[in-house]
Amino acid sequence: MSSSDIRVRIAPSPSGYLHVGTARTAIFNWLYARRFGGKFIVRIEDTDENRSDASLVKPILDALKWLGVDWDEGPYYQSERLENYKPYIAKLLDNGYAYRCFCTPEELEKERERAMAEKRAPKYNRKCLHRSGEEIAELLNKKTPFAIRLKIPEGVTSYDDIVIGTITRENCEIEDLVISRGDGSPVYNMAVVVDDYEMGITHVIRGNDHISNTFKQIHIYRALGITPPKFGHVPLILRPDKKKVSKRLGDKDVTEYGNEGILPEALFNFLCLLGWSPKDDREYLRREELIKIFVLENVNPANPIFNEEKLLALNKHYIKETPDYQLAEMVAPLYVAAGFTTKYWLETRWEYLLKIVSLLKERSRRLTDFISLGEYFFHSEFKYDAEAVKKEFTPESLKLLKSLCEEFENIDAFVKANLETALNQLAEELGIKKGLIIHPTRLAVSGITVGPGLYDLLETLGKNEVIKRLRRAIDYIQKAGG
Ligand code: GLU
Repeated sequence: MSSSDIRVRIAPSPSGYLHVGTARTAIFNWLYARRFGGKFIVRIEDTDENRSDASLVKPILDALKWLGVDWDEGPYYQSERLENYKPYIAKLLDNGYAYRCFCTPEELEKERERAMAEKRAPKYNRKCLHRSGEEIAELLNKKTPFAIRLKIPEGVTSYDDIVIGTITRENCEIEDLVISRGDGSPVYNMAVVVDDYEMGITHVIRGNDHISNTFKQIHIYRALGITPPKFGHVPLILRPDKKKVSKRLGDKDVTEYGNEGILPEALFNFLCLLGWSPKDDREYLRREELIKIFVLENVNPANPIFNEEKLLALNKHYIKETPDYQLAEMVAPLYVAAGFTTKYWLETRWEYLLKIVSLLKERSRRLTDFISLGEYFFHSEFKYDAEAVKKEFTPESLKLLKSLCEEFENIDAFVKANLETALNQLAEELGIKKGLIIHPTRLAVSGITVGPGLYDLLETLGKNEVIKRLRRAIDYIQKAGG
């Protein structure tokens, strides 16, 4: 097989949104395909009607697209392939590797309870394997419903996992698994084998929670006389409390990260580093670079922990690296949605938006920080931070703000160098530290205590706005009895 014949897939079940675990598996598969010039396929595993929700398919596909994980084939839908599975199931019945099981759910449940009471692992007792031909014919004649089970041979089974190495299991640990339900529909393990075979999948890369399925699937492949693909089981992502990341525990789906201001390239980079590393100290790796250096064999089988702080640090880096004009495109709709401004206003003041973006990008860890840190760029009726007011809006600072306001009124070229000189001179004349003027001034013009360099901020707001805001603060302090 040449490397360009590599075919891998992601096979989400639409029983939930695209979870970070599945997204990371998709990324590993995608990188593997892209690295070797192979194909990446999307297959929707929706045969379990009770657990599948068709309305979740689009959000899953949209989330993959948002992450930049594009596919070469598909999406294929298992539910549209039900006819494809039948000949394989029939073949297994014909060649004696499978048998009909007429046991009722009640009988099976009783058997299970007995095993539990006797402290044995529940396992099908093979009652139907030993039925005579006549017995079977009679049951079929009476139209007794039946499932079909695969007969697991004796012995041990091993396979070489790309990530974990050789894994061996005693066959007796596996019961004769149902491959087809009473209504003739295939169960997950059967459908996956047929799909992976018919779709020419060469490498199955998926979460390590599927290892026990892999053994079952290997038995199905063997019974069908088909060579199984290669398997690589990647570690599961754990929460900081060591529990498996799951929707049930309130963990987020991929699009939620987008809504919270995470850039797709940051999440992509972060997820890649969960369980894999380039074996040097590089952390910021864009997808083009990852395609060149990602090695599936180097995935660490130990389950990694999802550290949101690290994701934010990566995101901050990517925000800083994003050109201002691109950030402006991303942030503009957020400002409109937050009600700070309108699309039209921004379109006519694009230079101003670029300036805001360039000032805030240094300290933003999420795109949404541009909202929490930037409201004052759009209107002057903001509230002052209450804690900061106590500290910065004192009778002393009232005098300082008044003096500074007078100084600023006399400046014609309202550029940062001139503003800095004016403020420095004032501090010098009064024989005080600059900070005593800087902090109340920042609070007066922005309402908060953090933000870009003060002089940049003042220049961007412009003379009229700065004077207006200084006067507003002076008024405020006076009214408060300062
Ligand atoms: N549909 C399975 C899941 O969502 C994936 C199975 C596989 O990759 O073989 O977990």
